[in-house]
Amino acid sequence: AGTLMQGRRGLIMGVANHRSIAWAIAQACAAQGAEIAFTFQGEALEKRVRPLAASIGSDFVIPCDVSSDEQMDAAFAEVEKRWGKIDFFVHAIGFANKEYLRGRYLDTPRDVFLQALDISCFSFTATAKRAAAIMNPGGSLLTLSYLGAETWIPHYNIMGVAKAALEASVRYMAADLGQDGIRVNAISAGPIKTLAASGIGDFSYMLKWNQYNSMMRRNVGLEEVGNSGLYLLSPLSTGVTGEVHHVDCGYHAVGMKHPDAPDM
Ligand code: NAD
Repeated sequence: AGTLMQGRRGLIMGVANHRSIAWAIAQACAAQGAEIAFTFQGEALEKRVRPLAASIGSDFVIPCDVSSDEQMDAAFAEVEKRWGKIDFFVHAIGFANKEYLRGRYLDTPRDVFLQALDISCFSFTATAKRAAAIMNPGGSLLTLSYLGAETWIPHYNIMGVAKAALEASVRYMAADLGQDGIRVNAISAGPIKTLAASGIGDFSYMLKWNQYNSMMRRNVGLEEVGNSGLYLLSPLSTGVTGEVHHVDCGYHAVGMKHPDAPDM
């Protein structure tokens, strides 16, 4: 175990189970000495999150559905009450009605559009504001995005539009908080089989396509995203803000199907 995060405390939102990207980031930070608080969405997930938290020595587990201002206020009040200040914050939350994560983007109705933007983009702005208010200088905020923000990816639809807004919000918040010494970044992760990913149409095709065509000719692993999260949350990245950092085995910069990739 290292000491990169010794004496640092952080709040991580978005753990659903042991395959969650939020959990991979938590493990990487805990291995470097960080103290971590977790939130969960709804009672069913509490049963999953508590034992995971306990496995890294944390009993600080609180409810927070980010569609509610009251729940966000209550969660951050609880963190402030127990810890006073924090040093890092992770938002690994996204949601869209999966009926619309297939077919045409054009067919997205208003309520589905607004909910996806609310949960997948506005919730980072709203939690980042609350996190920054109790953050020590040198603190770091991190969210998770996907390449569907920058390029067309089949089935990603409204989530791609929400992620594009999320990535823009990273830059605006990085400027808002820069003079306080607080950094704001995103990781754009390659596809990983998680609970959220299972809602995306033809996800296994996406995994295969990335495996065959990424520069490294494989898919990215959870632990690799966790370690890159650690870098962005730690003092190793004090000069980095407003950044969307791709952790996808190079796939984001590929311009063409690999000549050796099998036909699919
Ligand atoms: P996951 O299902 O493990 O995590 C998604 C989390 O969002 C869950 O913990 C869920 O409880 C939470 N959430 C949804 N609505 C919420 C609400 N209203 N209030 C509070 N929490 C809510 O899946 P994951 O893949 O680890 O997703 C984490 C983030 O990573 C998401 O933003 C996702 O878009 C992003 N991402 C995932 C991939 C991938 O391939 N898995 C790739 C790039 C980016």
